[in-house]
Amino acid sequence: MLRLTDIKLPLDHQDTDLTQAILNKLGCSAAQLGQVSVFKRGFDARNKFDIQLIYTLDIEVDNQQALLAKFDGDPHVRLSPDTRYKFVGHAPEALNERPVVIGLGPCGLFAGLLLAQMGFKPIILERGKEVRERTKDTFGFWRKKPLNTESNVQFGEGGAGTFSDGKLYSQVKDRKHYGRKVLSEFVDAGAPDEIMYVSKPHIGTFKLVAMVERMRAQIIELGGEIRFSTRVDDVHIEHGQLTGLSLSTGEHLPCRHAVLAVGHSARDTFKMLYERNVYIEAKPFSVGFRIEHEQSMIDECRFGPNAGHPILGAADYKLVHHCNNGRAVYSFCMCPGGTVVAAASEEGRVVTNGMSQYSRHERNANSAIVVGIEPEKDFPGHPLAGIDLQRKLEEQAYVLGGSNYDAPAQLIGDFLTGKTSSELGEVKPSYTPGVKLTDLSKVLPDYAISAIREAIPAFDKQIKGFAKADGLLTGVETRTSSPISIKRGADFQSVNVNGLYPAGEGAGYAGGILSAGIDGIKVAEAVALSLLETSQ
Ligand code: FAD
Repeated sequence: MLRLTDIKLPLDHQDTDLTQAILNKLGCSAAQLGQVSVFKRGFDARNKFDIQLIYTLDIEVDNQQALLAKFDGDPHVRLSPDTRYKFVGHAPEALNERPVVIGLGPCGLFAGLLLAQMGFKPIILERGKEVRERTKDTFGFWRKKPLNTESNVQFGEGGAGTFSDGKLYSQVKDRKHYGRKVLSEFVDAGAPDEIMYVSKPHIGTFKLVAMVERMRAQIIELGGEIRFSTRVDDVHIEHGQLTGLSLSTGEHLPCRHAVLAVGHSARDTFKMLYERNVYIEAKPFSVGFRIEHEQSMIDECRFGPNAGHPILGAADYKLVHHCNNGRAVYSFCMCPGGTVVAAASEEGRVVTNGMSQYSRHERNANSAIVVGIEPEKDFPGHPLAGIDLQRKLEEQAYVLGGSNYDAPAQLIGDFLTGKTSSELGEVKPSYTPGVKLTDLSKVLPDYAISAIREAIPAFDKQIKGFAKADGLLTGVETRTSSPISIKRGADFQSVNVNGLYPAGEGAGYAGGILSAGIDGIKVAEAVALSLLETSQ
């Protein structure tokens, strides 16, 4: 197969135009062309009046060798790489040790799935409930029912990204094409085929719920075991080797290989690990607000007369501004046509995030507008100091919101001029349970407030209307990434505890669903190789 890249065609082209573009590029005849498949399809909307689709294609041609010679040196014509996933090994029949996976977010799900596919029959421990029960608790909280601190947006089967926009792209280097393995498992579990080829795939909340259930069924069918409502409360370490886990059920589980994929919100688990001397460092993360605008405004600005085109869908954006005070402000986790969600997992604290459905048909666009913060400058002194800062900001937001899990909110115009908001404008808040209009400048450190005040008008230069007075800010956004890193070595094991494999977002090795899934695969391979070695 040949891989052709950078084939550009107008948004409304016909299928035959694609064939013609291939023939034109290669200078061959239609008779020589075999099967054509789209590997990736992106678009270039820099000129919104002339949006171009950009294809990466895999094609069969009769005269492949001759064409490769003809296009030698052309980076857009080469052999298609083999992107199929190859297992690193399979468990021998006699193996009596079962690896453990702690946490069933995307990282634990893929670590567990891969270990199961390789025959290692993993035991997966998840503190939250199975996804349907979890959905009831989470949606209940959004309808003013009490917060369940073990079953919410952060905790439970599927992990933090289950109620999300389900964006499935990442900027991690992926030379071994693990991302294709993640996406193809998602497709097998019911995701639309298009996630394999569109440049910014997303699946939305409800599809994810059903997919997670199907993947769980596969793990169990392959001999894996999943225990819900089972939190790991302690780790037992002897002479630098993991030997077992204490579970919230009261059980002691002997174990010498455990993937630690607990996500960025397992603050109690981080504390326990620190107390057991597992090596942890503080790491940078970001804090800020969710911003909401009408999606139609973003579509119009990005796509002009092509707004609403089915191939383009609801428009997204990605913005960065470097401020005079040395801070960087950027947009994060943009959810086109979505809603702002209550993402708390601890009582008396308010934290926001965003989600959408596959259709992205809700009225508002939302994204986090956040300021990067660093341990040395902003929360020095202790590896877990970032958690203390997160908690403080989330508590301030809770109080400012009325101490009932409503979130504090402010109109953009009022935020920029330092005035307490008293009345909503055109943009209606999507956050439930509800919002309380207030003055958000009290909820974040001054340097963050002044940086965001500088960035929003700068963003308005890129997206006209971004600083519109009646856009809405809701606070606070604190769980953008993990505030710690649980250091691991080249063998993927903790630098000071053999058998403990820190993985995924919580340990600082991923930042999103796809990268967490990829990390789960890498760690599963490391665990499998170690088990195979010790079994010999
Ligand atoms: P998590 O998904 O956090 O999973 C960790 C799991 O471990 C949880 O299920 C938790 O219950 C469990 N756990 C924790 N402690 C213990 C313990 N002691 N014992 C047993 N189990 C434990 N990313 C994207 O790429 N695209 C998006 O569109 C997107 N939208 C998001 C929307 C929302 C509302 C949120 C909250 C996040 C979103 N993210 C998105 C981020 C993404 O969800 C995370 O990056 C990803 O889930 C991290 O995966 P993980 O497996 O490392 O951790």
